[in-house]
Amino acid sequence: MKRDEIISRYSKVFPKAARVTYAPIVGVKAKNAKVWDIEGREYIDFLSDAAVQNVGHNNDRVVKAIKEQTDRLVHFTFIYGFPIEPLLLAEKLVEISPIKSAKVVLGLSGSDANDGAIKFARAYTGRRTLLGYLGSYYGATYGAMSITGLDFEIRALVGELSDIHYIPFPDCYRCPFGQERGKCHFECISYLEYKFEREVYAEGVAALFAEPIQGDAGMIVPPDDYFRKLKKILDEYGILLVVDEVQSGLGRTGKWFAIEHFGVTPDIITIAKPLGGGLPISAIIGRGEIMESLPALGHTFTLSGNPVTSRAALAVIEEIEEKNLLKRAEELGEYTMRRLKKMQKEHELIGDVRGKGLMIGIDLVKNRETKERAFDEAKKVVWRAYELGLILAFLHGNVLRIQPPLTIEKELLDEGLDKLEQAIEDVENGKVDDKVLKIVKGW
Ligand code: PMP
Repeated sequence: MKRDEIISRYSKVFPKAARVTYAPIVGVKAKNAKVWDIEGREYIDFLSDAAVQNVGHNNDRVVKAIKEQTDRLVHFTFIYGFPIEPLLLAEKLVEISPIKSAKVVLGLSGSDANDGAIKFARAYTGRRTLLGYLGSYYGATYGAMSITGLDFEIRALVGELSDIHYIPFPDCYRCPFGQERGKCHFECISYLEYKFEREVYAEGVAALFAEPIQGDAGMIVPPDDYFRKLKKILDEYGILLVVDEVQSGLGRTGKWFAIEHFGVTPDIITIAKPLGGGLPISAIIGRGEIMESLPALGHTFTLSGNPVTSRAALAVIEEIEEKNLLKRAEELGEYTMRRLKKMQKEHELIGDVRGKGLMIGIDLVKNRETKERAFDEAKKVVWRAYELGLILAFLHGNVLRIQPPLTIEKELLDEGLDKLEQAIEDVENGKVDDKVLKIVKGW
């Protein structure tokens, strides 16, 4: 089959609701931070399948675990029986979790983990109201979509859960309160109190859902003190803190969980994406008493606790431990940030560079004063990167997403950063045609 034929068959069978398009890559093989397409072209992967490949594509340990497990037992339902693999995985998740005496529910995706967290938070507190963040993304199922602070068009079409309110995330580059990084009085926190005085009955709030670092909103990193200040208010009213680590968890930011950078312990954590090394598995990790608040079958799926996905997840965690990938993410992250900050000095298009570990965003702007988002330029950079052999994507239309595998070789990282700079330079110099704007859709 030829590339163009495959791509045209795609749109015949998959509706647009199920996909976004950045570049016409028909990937057929991948290893660590490299992907090969059907025509044999090689790409450096700075996207990691949207933060899935923390331990690299087709990681040897993960592939071996999957093969061994499929030879022995593909599925034995853990709803009725007692397969060993999900037990070992849940025990391991409790061990690495910052939550003491945690219990675990396994699922299939970040979306269903967040839906489950809504149910546990409501059942445990006996309260209905939920707080989410503007700009946040928690998933595509009804509950996760409803707390998501994006997707307004979708929600307007299909409806949503009730009793949900949104607050602004501490975005210090485009502060909704017009403040500057390091010079504010945490107006975003005062706003929550303001909301409690005027709109939301604080003692009716079950939980606040937060990404420790907002991913799909454009890699937004809160100030160091933000979560400590926030948690004080939540504790005052008995509101649970649920952190969505679907994108930021499992080493991506240099810690097992990104919330650990901010000195607070959440009540519930959700994880997915990198957990199965590419296989569908998620987990809700929560305080034991919270996780006991739903009755039997309160949140489970037929394929939860599948032995193959559980074995893959155990292998991912072992790989992070044995290869010391937390440290590696931190070191490579600092190195990448230094190189990107240097690029920022030389390229007007780069308005801001921010991130932790290897969860980094490059905010492209038309004008550094107004910070107007450079939507077309972002599309062109992604396209040019593709032409140069680099897989790249953007978030929120203009924030380039730098999320290579934590295992990427240093030389390859440098090569990818060179290609990235070349792509930015070519766009600044008008070398990329406007016609690519019709091809790269993104979101
Ligand atoms: N939470 C966050 C922070 C995410 O980035 C995503 C996916 N982009 C999800 C939840 C949803 O995960 P999934 O696509 O596995 O349902």
